[in-house]
Amino acid sequence: MTPTRSAVRLSDGRELIYFDETPDSGRASFADTRQLPPPPPASQLRYDPLVDEWVAIAAHRNTRTFLPPSDACPLCPTTERFASEIPAPSYDVAVFENQFPSFSDRIVANELTQVTELVPVRPGQGRCEVVCFTSDHNAAFGSLPPSRVRTVIDALADRTAEISTMPGVAQVFPFENRGVEIGVTLHHPHGQIYAYPTVTPKTAAMLRAARAHAEKTGGRNLYADVLAAEQTAKVRVVASNEHWTAYVPAAARWPFEVHLAPHRQVPDLPALTDAERDAFGPLYLDLLHRFDGLFGKPMPYISAWHQAVVGEGRELGYLHLQLFSIRRAADKLKFLAGSESAMGAFVNDIVPENAAQLLRDAV
Ligand SMILES: [Zn+2]
Repeated sequence: MTPTRSAVRLSDGRELIYFDETPDSGRASFADTRQLPPPPPASQLRYDPLVDEWVAIAAHRNTRTFLPPSDACPLCPTTERFASEIPAPSYDVAVFENQFPSFSDRIVANELTQVTELVPVRPGQGRCEVVCFTSDHNAAFGSLPPSRVRTVIDALADRTAEISTMPGVAQVFPFENRGVEIGVTLHHPHGQIYAYPTVTPKTAAMLRAARAHAEKTGGRNLYADVLAAEQTAKVRVVASNEHWTAYVPAAARWPFEVHLAPHRQVPDLPALTDAERDAFGPLYLDLLHRFDGLFGKPMPYISAWHQAVVGEGRELGYLHLQLFSIRRAADKLKFLAGSESAMGAFVNDIVPENAAQLLRDAV
């Protein structure tokens, strides 16, 4: 069932959208009673000419809420004692514009257009949204029922479709950071959506590789060929169903890393069929349980949706989810140190075939 969508404005003008599993919830009738300060000053993008990449400078994010007590959680529903970001007394899935955005469509371009001749500056135009998966503060994504995962996917698809039409948006990236080990600043189960004004460095590299592969093979899609090869090899496949396959990439960078890809090439979440959306939840939940089962405790992870870019190169994209953890042993984390941080050259301590076997065994 498609969720019921209703939108309101928070007191500082930011948009909040409820995605409800039942019709006529009436949530949008609750108004934000807080007196919020005006939106923060503009962030900016500076060009790094040495590596041909843009870097976002968003100083206001340094003051954002950091691990508040649970009775002052901004993502819990509003109560009589605490007015949160969500005015309604309950919700299923709620999405709102981040109060401390790295990118925003409210940004007023300032006069600065360059730092030096070699370092142009552009306004941090774009959009940052927070996606609350459940009103239950103590839940985790892995504890949600498949029906809620479906609602989340529908919400992410809705947001991707709308944000993709906003002026200047080059790429829409939904993701979840889980665990203080990853740097999470709010415990409440939530994800985020970043809409960037430029194609990100990772996606730019993937587009270069996909374009070269298409030219070499008479137009074949690189990701589709990689997925087909993994399905044939089987040794790194962790789990699969009729519509999706989960596998450890042959050259995984992280101790535990899985790609979850639909069998049909689609550019982004809005392009998934009902059947594909329904089939995603059970397989993804199974993977999350396997992650937590590896060391018998909640696994810190990053869950990242790779979607096609909005503009040039869109036809080369192939939607997939990249799920990975920095935990490499029960009491050890992988840190991005010299080789990874300074050189971008990853060294993985766990053989991908072994990681796949451990994940298959972790139930
Ligand atoms: Zn909460």
